[in-house]
Amino acid sequence: MALKLYNTLTRKKEEFIPAQENKVKMYVCGPTVYNFISIGNARPIIVFNMVRNYLKYLGYKVIFVQNITDIEDKIINKANSEGVDYKVITDRYVKAFMEDIKTLEINDIDEIPLATKMISEIIDIITRIINNGYGYVVGGNVYFDVSKYKSYGKLSGQKIDEMKDADDIDFEKQDKIDFALWKEAKPGEPSWDSPWGKGRPGWHIECSAMSNKYLGFGFDIHGGGLDLIFPHHENEIAQSEAAFPGRGNFVKYWMHNGMVEVKERKMSKSDGLKEDWILKNFLKKRSPNLLKFYMLSTHYRSPLEFSDEKLEESKKALEKITSTIRNIKFIINNKDAKNQKASPEESQKLTSDKEKLKAFLISIKPDFTSAMDKDFNSAGAIGVLFEAIKTVNGIIQGTDFAPDREFINDLDSFYEEIAGLYNIFGIDLKREVCDDLIGLKTETGSLGAEEIENLIQERNEARKNKDFRKSDEIRDKLLGGKILLEDRKEGTIWRVQK
Ligand SMILES: [Zn+2]
Repeated sequence: MALKLYNTLTRKKEEFIPAQENKVKMYVCGPTVYNFISIGNARPIIVFNMVRNYLKYLGYKVIFVQNITDIEDKIINKANSEGVDYKVITDRYVKAFMEDIKTLEINDIDEIPLATKMISEIIDIITRIINNGYGYVVGGNVYFDVSKYKSYGKLSGQKIDEMKDADDIDFEKQDKIDFALWKEAKPGEPSWDSPWGKGRPGWHIECSAMSNKYLGFGFDIHGGGLDLIFPHHENEIAQSEAAFPGRGNFVKYWMHNGMVEVKERKMSKSDGLKEDWILKNFLKKRSPNLLKFYMLSTHYRSPLEFSDEKLEESKKALEKITSTIRNIKFIINNKDAKNQKASPEESQKLTSDKEKLKAFLISIKPDFTSAMDKDFNSAGAIGVLFEAIKTVNGIIQGTDFAPDREFINDLDSFYEEIAGLYNIFGIDLKREVCDDLIGLKTETGSLGAEEIENLIQERNEARKNKDFRKSDEIRDKLLGGKILLEDRKEGTIWRVQK
């Protein structure tokens, strides 16, 4: 089966066929840097990172561009309210954004262009639009003449009359629906020289200029939040197709993620939730893996509720997964288990366990891919992995579980397979398991890994000697250091309580 995706432009699920074989060019609209980014802004970042990773997994070479809008009304307003130059604002929030995506571990975005570094490309494309008869100049402003571009509305599926903003009382424009390509500078505003005098670009034009510079016309995937369909993406299409007429569609597939919804009532009752709505605050308290798991457990086009309950649900589910992975890793690393002598009953049980595990090793990738091929159904794919993990957990938790080398080798392959597929979601399961060790010193205050291992050994000795008072004392001491123990036939596993 081939990958199908929902194309906003045609309002249909279509088979994905890139313009060039084996190569995908994608562009996603990035933030306007006048504030710290929110959980809402993080969704397209996490979703399109998953899209890019899955396309790479399918064998495509992907070029991924995400812009930053560093000149816009909101930035100027913020600079005025703080009484500083606009650069102070954009430097601060560009830096914060770069830190956020680093913390989120979104790597390898090929280009992250800034609008203010793209002025000559922007002027070029506006000039083309004017020369092709789609733009007009009024004073120092340039507007796009929507009446000249006959396909306007094709993305949002609206009629021009429905799109006119009744409150728009800009008398300069020939029609209310026309939008600014270049804005004349007001006194004190940041500005650049242009054929139309000093000014700055309108918001929409930078994406037409940047995508053309890095990806060319007719590239494969353009992404963004649902809220950008109109007017931003509609205007991007009009601009690009007016600048390069007769070349077909500006973009082959338009993908839009649903919004993150917050119930005002919940937000107003919970200061924590309000604080966590800012991504950098969220990431101080919770792991990037949790945020990705929470977001990708819902299909990218569906609305997503942001609430303590939903986050807690995701946290529990992720903990179940990591706890199983931790147990699997323990069994793989435990040498004693490899040399166990099994009874005939245990051997029989093991044969059936082996068959189950081998069946997963065969089916897991096709089942995962078949879910993802349905319009990047990450929720379904997470479900496929969860079922496999749950079944394997059932096997290894069994009282009569007695693995041999072959089983352990297969378990190792299973572990690598699961961890590899989770990487597509940007989730590092191996690290999630090891985080316990990394966070140990700070979280437990005083206990180090070696100390914990020694205490466990001491406790096991005490239990062997039936000195349960001592073994309980040690357990309590560890619990005081937030170390949880799990006694297994093969030994004792510990982890940090979260
Ligand atoms: Zn854009």
